[in-house]
Amino acid sequence: MVIIRGATTIERDEKIEIQRAVKELLEQIEMRNSLTRSEIMSIVFSSTSDIHSYYPAKAAREAGFEHCSLFSAMEPDIEGSLKLCIRVMLFIEKNFTPCHIYLRGAKVLRKDIVSKMNIALDGPAGSGKSTVAKEVAKDYNILYLDTGAMYRACALKAMQAKIAFDDEERLIELMKEIDLSIEYEGGVQKTVLDGRDVSEEIRLPEVSMAASTVSKCPCVRVKMVEKQREIAQKMSCVLDGRDIGTYVLPEADFKFFLTARPEVRAKRRYDELVSKGHAVDFEELKADIVKRDEQDATREFAPLKKADDAVEVDTSDMTISEVVAFVKSKMQEKI
Ligand code: C5P
Repeated sequence: MVIIRGATTIERDEKIEIQRAVKELLEQIEMRNSLTRSEIMSIVFSSTSDIHSYYPAKAAREAGFEHCSLFSAMEPDIEGSLKLCIRVMLFIEKNFTPCHIYLRGAKVLRKDIVSKMNIALDGPAGSGKSTVAKEVAKDYNILYLDTGAMYRACALKAMQAKIAFDDEERLIELMKEIDLSIEYEGGVQKTVLDGRDVSEEIRLPEVSMAASTVSKCPCVRVKMVEKQREIAQKMSCVLDGRDIGTYVLPEADFKFFLTARPEVRAKRRYDELVSKGHAVDFEELKADIVKRDEQDATREFAPLKKADDAVEVDTSDMTISEVVAFVKSKMQEKI
């Protein structure tokens, strides 16, 4: 037996619309799967709770699907889900690879039933990854993991221990004893180093450059990647970083690579730091960002790189909501 899925939407909750939509959907499913009606054992419909005017099962009977069993049910009201949508499942009495049919914008990610998804958002500093990742995570009600914060915490630890950022031997020792945990308070990530919340401290420009240098060291990366994979394996999350799509989670369900012109990226970081009361020089910050990207992109182990199957988005001239809408639309297209 094979199950074929399908869905469609209607414009208004009216009998004639429901009849038209059900007929069109079932005929498309039949045609695209080369079915004969006698091969259909049963058809199960569900419709969103804003559809009351007519039973899709009744519309199917009227459209000539007379010999199979039919059933309709109403879905609970799920916040943020697609409106005026009719979904269907056909049970077919033969074996073949089914072609599922989605018409009239009905191909959407059902966040209520998708079991687990990992979204990789990579890109250089200031490309908008973290802001977009936070929004996407909020929209899908999943976790946001800022992997950069983990490397920043390692750098801070090296600074406190007065270890040169490229002293591999001492970094190996440091990684053995590092007490780093990622916690969440009201949905916001907290980076806790040796029992102390260092979320703010790790944002300082000197920590940024140090993070880029310590993260070149394989011993640091291996340790952090292990933690990242452990989290991603357990739950749905959006991870932002440099190597998520290429190295940490090459099998991520969705991959994006965000870019932006260097001056735009520097301006974003500048505004962010100034708004937090830090005194920064724009030209210096820009030079630092360019240098850091160069270092991140040319390191040997897991460099900053677009995965071949990632969708690239230049965010230079886009607003945050435009990028979020684009990312979500690409995700919908893929399912
Ligand atoms: O993203 P953020 O600017 O906080 O990252 C700080 C630094 O951490 C980066 O410049 C990069 O060197 C390193 N990093 C990394 N891999 C990641 C995330 C961050 O190497 N997945």
